Amino acid sequence: LSDRLTETFRNLKRKGALSETDVNKTVRDIRMALLDADVALPVVKQFTGQVRDRALGAEVSKALNPGQQVVKIVNEELVSILGGQTRRLNLAKNPPTVIMLAGLQGSGKTTLAGKLGFWLKEQGHTPLLVAADLQRPNAVTQLEVVGERAGVPVFAPERGNVFGHDAALESGEGTRSFGDPIDVAVDGVAHARDKNHDVVIIDTAGRLAVDVDLMRQAHDIRMETNADEVLFVIDAMIGQAAVETAKAFADGVGITGTVLTKLDGDARGGAALSVATVTGEPILFASTGEGVKDFETFHPDRMAGRILDMGDVLTLIEQAEKAFDQAQQREMARKFLAEEDFTFVDFLEQMQAIKKMGSLKQMLGMMPGMQQMRAQLDSLDDKEFDRVEAMVRSMTPFERMHPKQINGSRRARIAKGSGVSPSEVNQLLERFGQAQKMMRQMRKGGAMPGMPGMPG
Ligand code: GDP
Ligand code: MG
Repeated sequence: LSDRLTETFRNLKRKGALSETDVNKTVRDIRMALLDADVALPVVKQFTGQVRDRALGAEVSKALNPGQQVVKIVNEELVSILGGQTRRLNLAKNPPTVIMLAGLQGSGKTTLAGKLGFWLKEQGHTPLLVAADLQRPNAVTQLEVVGERAGVPVFAPERGNVFGHDAALESGEGTRSFGDPIDVAVDGVAHARDKNHDVVIIDTAGRLAVDVDLMRQAHDIRMETNADEVLFVIDAMIGQAAVETAKAFADGVGITGTVLTKLDGDARGGAALSVATVTGEPILFASTGEGVKDFETFHPDRMAGRILDMGDVLTLIEQAEKAFDQAQQREMARKFLAEEDFTFVDFLEQMQAIKKMGSLKQMLGMMPGMQQMRAQLDSLDDKEFDRVEAMVRSMTPFERMHPKQINGSRRARIAKGSGVSPSEVNQLLERFGQAQKMMRQMRKGGAMPGMPGMPG
């Protein structure tokens, strides 16, 4: 998929403006990419339609070539549908905040209750889990186990409601009949209010498929507890069925957000786009394993990248727009202007920065001063890059600061330490010497190509 897409964009790159043919062809490929990623068909149609309209209406950008421009639009649309910015939990003005979990059986609600509880507790909240899944006798026990693992107390029916680590709960009061999930949920919230739990997480029952009773029950729990958040929990591997399921929960229960689970599997994340499109609500969290800590805040931009899986193309755009982190840029400018020489210490820092940003070669042209070195560095492939790093790492701090002092025996030691031949070390030092010289000349000439905001 991504190969085909990348190829399309490469072809687009060579042209000057976005033609309708270009856009149509790109849109076709995006459609395939989304279907590959398991996005549901109606969602794919809607999405590509939006992208097509925007791409055709887009003004031709000076900074980006046509291919990049389409990618940018695709990416922006994806991020926007996935919820734009990461959305935080809505906390109630008057605690407790009531968070209800709803979703099909096996989607990961009970597991999520533990994760969410653990996560909230780490942030200083005092969560309470409420066992309102009374469908199977095991469900309550399962939540108790989960709560114990997370160190979060559990309000459960019938047994004096006492589990976990809550001394207040352990005094044991208000035994309820095992049976009515709505009562349990309501009592759980009341209990939380009494005992100063500031967040209540209600675990509810699911069925294997959408059904009317289930929806009504979930709806009633939501109404009776006056839930602040109703999180729709969905297995990311669900594929095409995501649309139908999400629609049923959005219509039947009413949801305020989604949690995607099992993202540690090989799901391509298409469900994210399907669900977000159908429900119009953001995705708040991602579940990435069975452990209590396998849980993270959902980042729409990362998911957009995962869905399209065209990392290098997207990275390129980001880089073109973001270039360097401001502080880093200032620091480098200082370095170039200062009297002191460029050293291996600086070099190593820059290498780390480049690595963090991804593709080395794409970045070279954007680094201050590096345009001059590009011809030399460009010939390095990434493996060579690793060897260079190994060599620099084998240098002592003194050697990094004073490359000229690296004599024969030091070179031999560095070669041995980094597993390269002495001649490679020689080459590196020679290249580095040239780079230093170039930078000195640049400083003298005062020209700072590629350094925005610098005096020319
Ligand atoms: P519920 O029926 O909605 O309450 O779902 P459960 O919480 O009982 O989860 C069903 C199964 O999925 C359990 O075996 C969990 O361990 C597993 N599970 C839940 N979330 C994840 C996840 O993010 N990744 C993986 N790999 N497994 C998960
Ligand atoms: Mg469950």
